Amino acid sequence: PHSKLNVRLYSWDESLPLDEAFWRATLERALARRAGLARNHPESAVRLVYSEADGMSGLIADRYAAHLVVQINSLAMARCWPMLLPLFVELVQPACISLRSDRGIVKEERMEPQMGVAWGTPPDGPVFVLEHGLRFGVDVVGGQKTGLYLDQAENHQAAAAYLAQRRVLDVFCYTGGFSLAAAHTGQAAEVLGVDSSERAIITARANAERNGTRQVRFEEADGFQFLDECRARGERFGAVILDPPKFARNRRQIDEALRAYHRINRLAVDLLEPGGVLVTCSCSGGITREDLQLMLCGVSQKTGRAIQILEQRGAGPDHPIRVTCPESEYLKCFICRVD
Ligand code: SAH
Repeated sequence: PHSKLNVRLYSWDESLPLDEAFWRATLERALARRAGLARNHPESAVRLVYSEADGMSGLIADRYAAHLVVQINSLAMARCWPMLLPLFVELVQPACISLRSDRGIVKEERMEPQMGVAWGTPPDGPVFVLEHGLRFGVDVVGGQKTGLYLDQAENHQAAAAYLAQRRVLDVFCYTGGFSLAAAHTGQAAEVLGVDSSERAIITARANAERNGTRQVRFEEADGFQFLDECRARGERFGAVILDPPKFARNRRQIDEALRAYHRINRLAVDLLEPGGVLVTCSCSGGITREDLQLMLCGVSQKTGRAIQILEQRGAGPDHPIRVTCPESEYLKCFICRVD
């Protein structure tokens, strides 16, 4: 009753009770949809349930190898959780299920945060997963989101294809997804990853070591400041990747967010050598593809540099967009050429 979302739709058929049989069928459908995905491999990480897109508004389930992390983001799903837990155990057969909550949402829904181990034996260190042949250590307890930004997995590879022999700056690198793909798949000459989270940088460095990546360096710094400093020093890069956190949390913040996107993208373009590659992302749901393109248009005008969009991408196939719920589309990733 207190949520900003007044309606959560679980079925169009009002005669269906939301009982065990209903959730079993819903969960089975979500799992079946991922059966053929390349990333749905026992050693990989994959989103098995994506909220509205899978008819389970307010519930996310990410599998990291044998470990399942569930995020309960609605009071409705919190109420159903006692029914859902045994279904996840039976149908996914994980070694462990742990719960994470988004603090902001918990407050809005006025529900108790759901945290800790719900089932099985928790890992005593990072969980290891393979992403396109690279090994990542995941902190499923203390990491951001459920541990990794799984929505970007395919984009890490797609971006890498443009980065051969380039000097790459990966701003907002988290645990090194784009950076490591750039170095290995992409054969980049040199990669510098920057993030303000100390914990993320420590994990990123461990990931680089784990994969024997030599040409990557990670630094803890504020992204905006770092870009400013690079420009002041006259640094040049062959590619800049921008994957900032959500700048707009609601409609009122959209204008301010667009100014922030403009600012970092302009800084990035200033750092790029002619013919450079800009990979620019936005995970703010309120910002559309058209908004992002217009923002780039402004950057092109201000800098006098031609910007071409080579690829317009979104989240990976384990985060599908339900056409009847346009809000399930939030991630934009443009791969651009800057002359
Ligand atoms: N590119 C990553 C995901 C990035 S998510 C991947 O593909 O895995 C956004 C990141 O921005 C988070 O790691 C967060 O720690 C970082 N961040 C948030 N505010 C920041 C700031 N002001 N400066 C630098 N990094 C910041």
